[in-house]
Amino acid sequence: MRRRPCLVCGRLTRNPSRCDQHQAEWQTEQDRRRGSATQRGYGAAYQRNAAAVLADHRRTHGAVCPGYSAPAHPSTDLTVDHILPKSRGGDDERENLTVLCRACNSRKHNR
Ligand SMILES: [Zn+2]
Ligand SMILES: [Zn+2]
Repeated sequence: MRRRPCLVCGRLTRNPSRCDQHQAEWQTEQDRRRGSATQRGYGAAYQRNAAAVLADHRRTHGAVCPGYSAPAHPSTDLTVDHILPKSRGGDDERENLTVLCRACNSRKHNR
């Protein structure tokens, strides 16, 4: 196999783009970024619970938003919202998640 120069240090390597040392450093950096993205956003538990809540809602009510300071209405743009906000100690359990359409969700958060 042809050797290529490492993208970082230019040393010839059999790896596709980086020498062993810089490949390892790059991988560490990727893992770190992926980890911090999860911490910054919502965690895996939230993703799982939110998907389940949404699926349940669609199965039971169909494409209908329960409404926030508005009557229930049909919506294809449903999102999952925390009943007790995380900023006030709410958690990501299914009991604390509810379904709202995007419009109702932003009305709730902009009040
Ligand atoms: Zn290198
Ligand atoms: Zn709505």
